Order: sequence, then C-alpha cells, then structure tokens
Amino acid sequence: MNKEELLHLSRGKGLTVVAGPTAVGKGTVVRYILENHPEVKLSVSATTRSPRPGEIDGESYFFWSMEQFDANIEAGQMLEYATVHGTNKYGTPKQPVIDAIAAGKLVLLEIDIQGARQVKAAMPEARLIFIAPPSWNELVRRLQTRGTETPEEQERRLASAEVELAAQSEFDHVVINDEVARCASEVIDLMKAN
Ligand code: 5GP
Repeated sequence: MNKEELLHLSRGKGLTVVAGPTAVGKGTVVRYILENHPEVKLSVSATTRSPRPGEIDGESYFFWSMEQFDANIEAGQMLEYATVHGTNKYGTPKQPVIDAIAAGKLVLLEIDIQGARQVKAAMPEARLIFIAPPSWNELVRRLQTRGTETPEEQERRLASAEVELAAQSEFDHVVINDEVARCASEVIDLMKAN
C-alpha cells in the first residue's frame, strides 16, 4: 500500500456507517446486504447489554462487562463508543475495522448517531447513511410488532428515535426503508461509490 492509499485508509475511505432510529429495520437491511454481497464486512460491536435469545457472543456482539468495556476505552481500542438509550454502552473495536479496510473489504458499521458523529470526526472520508422509516406511525408499528422490548423500553426507544430523526441532515445520504431489497440496493450503491 502506498502513502496516498494509507492516508485515504486512515481517513475512512471504504468505510460506511448506517444509523437510524430503533426498529427502522437497519438489522434486516444489513443482513440482506451481507447475504448478497460477500465483499462487505460488518464490524462486530461490543456492548454491555445482555444477549437476547439466539444472539451469539463474537457474532451478534462482543458481550462485555462494564469493566471490560472501560478498559478497552482506556487502552484506546475503540473507534467510537456511546451510551445508548440511557443505559448500556455500545462501541466499535478499532483494529478489526482497520484490518478489514486494509484487506480491501467494504466495511459497514451499524451504530447509533452519537457513534456516527465520532466516526465522521475521526475519519472524514467515511460515508454516513441514515436509514429512515416511511413514516413515524410505521416506525411505532414496527417497534410494537417486534415485541422484544418491554413497554417502558419501547417508550425510551421512541424518545431516542425522535432525537435521532431530527439528526438526519447531518448524514451524507438518507435512504428510506420502505422495502428491504430496494433499500439495501440503494445502500450498496452508495457504499461502492465511496
Ligand atoms: P440493540 O440493543 O437493539 O442491539 O441496539 C441498540 C442501539 O445500539 C442501536 O440503535 C444500534 O444502532 C446501537 N449500536 C449498536 N452497536 C453500536 C456501536 O458499536 N456503537 C454505537 N455507538 N452504537 C451502537
């Protein structure tokens, strides 16, 4: 890799961040992309929240204790991190992202808006994509029918969603998740353009 390529790498070329409100269907869009585009590598985040049924440590997330998480922050190992929905910490371990970009992969981060801002500040060539719902009512419907959160947790997430929707204009692109395959194809086109 020559000097210029290294500079672009350190500035986030090849890196795409998708963010968007709770229950907008980011996870489904991302899974669709991974199944259909082997050149895309999803960064595995770390979190202090407990695994949901079926989630696998090291695949869905790295499930860390608060102590482990704080030690990684201290050691400068996190590309970004944030406290999400007022309770747990979530973040992106830095080294796997750098290794994957250096290996020529298109790297995708599915993180919250605070994290997206940090990535843009650290790596200005990273592409930020906001996944938006077709409407507010549709977002509420998706969250309620998912049924994985308690009513209190749903309230908290909807409060965060309002704040997140207001931050769309900070993103390089807004893509509406009206239909998974269509949304995914728009995202992948934008990733390849970076
Ligand atoms: P969940 O608990 O539903 O898996 O995720 C909750 C929120 O955490 C989502 O909005 C997701 O985007 C965000 N999140 C997941 N991983 C990361 C991460 O590595 N960094 C940041 N900043 N947010 C994350």
